[in-house]
Amino acid sequence: MLVMKFGGASVKNADAIRNVAKIIDHHSSEPLLVVISASGKTTNHLEELAALAKKGDELGATQKLASIKDFHNKLVHDLFEDRAPILAKTAAWYREIERIVHGILLLEEFPARTYDRIVAYGELLSTTIVEGYMQTLGAPCKWLDARTVVKTDAIYQQANVIWSLTKQRIQEDVKPIVLDGQVLITQGFIGSTPEGKTTTLGREGSDYSAAIFAHCLEAKRMMVWKDVIGILNGDPRRMPDAVKIDELSYEEAVEMTFYGATVIHPKTIKPIFTQQIPLYVKCFGDVNAPGSRISTHSNATLIPSYIVKEKQVLFEITPKDFSFMDEQHMREIFDRTYKSGIKLNLIQNSAISLLLCTDHHPQRTQAFEALLLDNYEVKVFSDLQLHTVLNFQEADTASAKGARLVQQFGNKLFMVR
Ligand code: ASP
Ligand code: MG
Repeated sequence: MLVMKFGGASVKNADAIRNVAKIIDHHSSEPLLVVISASGKTTNHLEELAALAKKGDELGATQKLASIKDFHNKLVHDLFEDRAPILAKTAAWYREIERIVHGILLLEEFPARTYDRIVAYGELLSTTIVEGYMQTLGAPCKWLDARTVVKTDAIYQQANVIWSLTKQRIQEDVKPIVLDGQVLITQGFIGSTPEGKTTTLGREGSDYSAAIFAHCLEAKRMMVWKDVIGILNGDPRRMPDAVKIDELSYEEAVEMTFYGATVIHPKTIKPIFTQQIPLYVKCFGDVNAPGSRISTHSNATLIPSYIVKEKQVLFEITPKDFSFMDEQHMREIFDRTYKSGIKLNLIQNSAISLLLCTDHHPQRTQAFEALLLDNYEVKVFSDLQLHTVLNFQEADTASAKGARLVQQFGNKLFMVR
């Protein structure tokens, strides 16, 4: 059994969708489940729509929704000859979005769950169109609402999977259909609470969704289709001579994604690691190229990787009474990081201070700072970059290049591992 995932770029226009259909068709001789993201930048547009509705900007929201509809209607127009059946389906989704937006405008209320309800339509629309298109090609496929099987808690925008329930649903409701030879086409990024309230797994969470399906289906392989040739040892926009890593271990992949390599979502690895499911990162523009493989094997140890995480905030925390930065203080500070919900990317202590690096998240970092001010002097440095070199090798000329690259930037934190 194979689980494949296509991101927004791979379904961003009609030609891209035709290419995806070819890839699906090519792999459909084995039991197959396909996870798809929202088309192009639709999730961003839906976020903007939610923000306009929240502000009470009726005109802005109406225009935004119109442009989202136009975009999807154009996909339908370009892909289908007989458009009425698919337009009826997309129109039903548009009506649901409209109802939610009107509800917000009317009640002047924006509960936390509303964001998730609105942004979910990106994936619902894209999968409806792709599945409809596959049908016109005569492929034996079926559309699945991921919310009926991916069950989560009610932490909106960052929901946590309820594994036991999700596994049961997928095994009972999904596996038989896939084994029966139907290609199941479903959404990444979305789930729902046991009561059926729509939730989302965090931005760029479709890779994670695919890993959830792969885990629960006990799939033999998972494939993520990207616009790059595989996992590279640096961002090619910064490092033109970045090279592809053919094989890397789950551990190496976790390290890379944790420090900011954006090629796959960091949460993706654990569910496939626990079942030892190999993950192939492949290029949808060059389908026969081997891509990269993440599994128990590795040949990456000799290749240094350079990873840059943008928009970092650094806290320098010093006890007001000039006491040592001891375990007692650290316990107090870490308790407060947890309470304010910030995620630490780098930690370093010295005799009298603790340095903590975290993502830019104004609400959380401000809450954290406020919690510290009773006992600590706090200095905050923002808009930094965190540079990480994995597998650093002193003698390696490529590493030296990495070091030069780092020096190019003014605001940098440099980490070598
Ligand atoms: N469509 C969602 C996003 O853009 C999920 C994903 O693309 O993985 O964040
Ligand atoms: Mg996306």
